[in-house]
This record gives sequence, C-alpha cells and structure tokens, in this order.
Amino acid sequence: QQALDTGLEKTKDNIFSRLTKAVAGKSTVDDDVLDELEEILVTSDVGVKTTLKIIERIQARVSRDKYIGTSELNGILRDEIQQLLAENNSNDFQSFEYGDHKPYVIMVVGVNGVGKTTTIGKLAHQLKQAGNQVVLGAADTFRAAAVDQIILWGERVKVRVVSQAMGSDPASVAFDTLKSAVANGDDVAIIDTAGRLHNKVGLMNELTKIKNVMQKVVPGAPHEILLVLDASTGQNAIEQCKQFTEATSVNALALTKLDGTAKGGVVIGISDQFKIPVKYIGVGEGMDDLQLFDRKSFVESLFK
Ligand code: GDP
Repeated sequence: QQALDTGLEKTKDNIFSRLTKAVAGKSTVDDDVLDELEEILVTSDVGVKTTLKIIERIQARVSRDKYIGTSELNGILRDEIQQLLAENNSNDFQSFEYGDHKPYVIMVVGVNGVGKTTTIGKLAHQLKQAGNQVVLGAADTFRAAAVDQIILWGERVKVRVVSQAMGSDPASVAFDTLKSAVANGDDVAIIDTAGRLHNKVGLMNELTKIKNVMQKVVPGAPHEILLVLDASTGQNAIEQCKQFTEATSVNALALTKLDGTAKGGVVIGISDQFKIPVKYIGVGEGMDDLQLFDRKSFVESLFK
C-alpha cells in the first residue's frame, strides 16, 4: 500500500486538491460543484464518457436524496469509482490464479516505450518470488535492443530466457519458448512481442500467427493476452487500447508509470470503457515496482 500511496500521489493531488477547492465554502452539492467535478475528472484523464457516467450517477443521487452535503461528496465519488473498476480475484502474487494451466502462457503486447520489457522483467521476478518457475520468450525480434533487454532482465531476476537471433521469426521464438517450458516443467511462460502499430492488419496477422503456433504446443495458449499501456500518456493509452483490442483478444491490462504522473485517472476510464481488467500496475522502475491491481487499495490510495 505504501508504494501505491506514493505512486498515486500526483493523481490524488490533481483530483482532490482541486475538488477540495471546488467545494470550499459550499455546503451542498449543486450544479456548480458538479460542473467543477466534471472538469476535474476530464482533465485527470478519466475520459469524457466515464466522467459523464459518474456525474450522472451523482446527479441521480442528488435528486433522489434532495440534499447532499459537500462533505459527503468524497465518499460518494469513491463508491462510484470503485464500482466502475473491475474486481480482481487475487491481489497478491502468492495467490495468483492460473486455473489448471501449466505452463500458464502470457503473451505481452504493446507499443515500444510503454514499459513492456520492464513489466515483463518485473512480472517474472514477482512470479518467481511467489514460488513459480518462469521462462521468458524474446519474440520481439525486430529490435535488437528488445532481445538484449529481455536477456538482461533474465539475468537480473534469474529467470531463463529463450531467444533467437534478431530478425528471426517471432512465431518461431514463441514456439521454442513453449516447447522449452513444457520440457522444463515451467509454471509460467511470458512471451514478448513486437509492438508495431503502424498497420493494424499487419499487427493482427502477426499476433494471430504467434497465437496459432503457441496452440500447437500448449492447447488454449495464450491464457493471458496482456496489453501494456503507459498511464502517463493519458488519452493516448486509451487510443492504443482501442487499436490493440481490435487486433487481438486482449484480456488483461498493465498500466505503467503511475508514479510520477497526474494522469492516473486513466485507469478508471480504461477499466470502464473497455471492460478489460487492469491486472497489473507499474509504480516505479525497480523489479519490485509491479503490483497486482486491487480496486479497493487503488481507491483507498486515491482518497486518503
Ligand atoms: P518498452 O520499449 O515498452 O519495452 O519499454 P521499457 O520497458 O524499455 O521501458 C521504457 C522506460 O520506462 C524505461 O526507462 C523504464 O525504466 C521505464 N518504466 C517502465 N515502467 C515504469 C514504471 O512503472 N514507472 C517508471 N517510473 N518508469 C517505468
């Protein structure tokens, strides 16, 4: 909770210091207060649609209860935000749920620079700490740096990495990684992929090819298609989410760089808009700075 509190500090300041100012000297939640709240949420990257949903719900409460004191507004907002966030089954890596899958296969997608490699390294570390045997597949073969970085993370967190020469077929790396995971009895295989977005059809075809190859080795794989998004890019993250969910069946999100950004509201907007659970959040560059997202702790940190 400590790391989360620190990580969300700027977002919290952005939303709540302004909200406190907006209600200063007022006793009831009136249209002016709601207008201010709307403005605050939109500029905190909650997104227009989600903001309007929140405002409408509060409006409905105001007209139902006739009078809502400004002192109650925080609590109400907190409830509404919590309801918009998807609940996670587990909030610590010890009780991370794999179903019956062994290896549990995570295919990681996202554009360059969002923190994909770092997230993979941190995730490998956390899962290993929780007692799992993990293997990484360096299938982003288009950037030499990507392969090198995965290898480096593998050394750092002492996890095996399967790689081929730069420029080799990503699907072939994915295939090798899963073969090796099965032979080695690994619990989790995490596969990096190239994050080129300039052509949606190309992206779709490439990811489909990788998925098909994975299924030849592990039926049902990938169990998790994890899209990594940089929270500090706010609305860009939403746009990327749109593109990737159209290209492949993303079923989990990782939002990175929540530390140091005031745009943490994007977590709320994305969760509501795409109905895909935010599963992991990055709150720093170190190997321990990845957390399983828990809506209660998140909201608690925001409203402290
Ligand atoms: P990739 O190109 O998507 O693989 O991005 P990288 O994993 O190389 O990360 C890009 C930069 O973002 C690096 O300097 C990382 O240390 C940094 N980074 C990644 N995740 C986080 C995070 O949660 N918080 C902070 N502050 N920096 C991060």
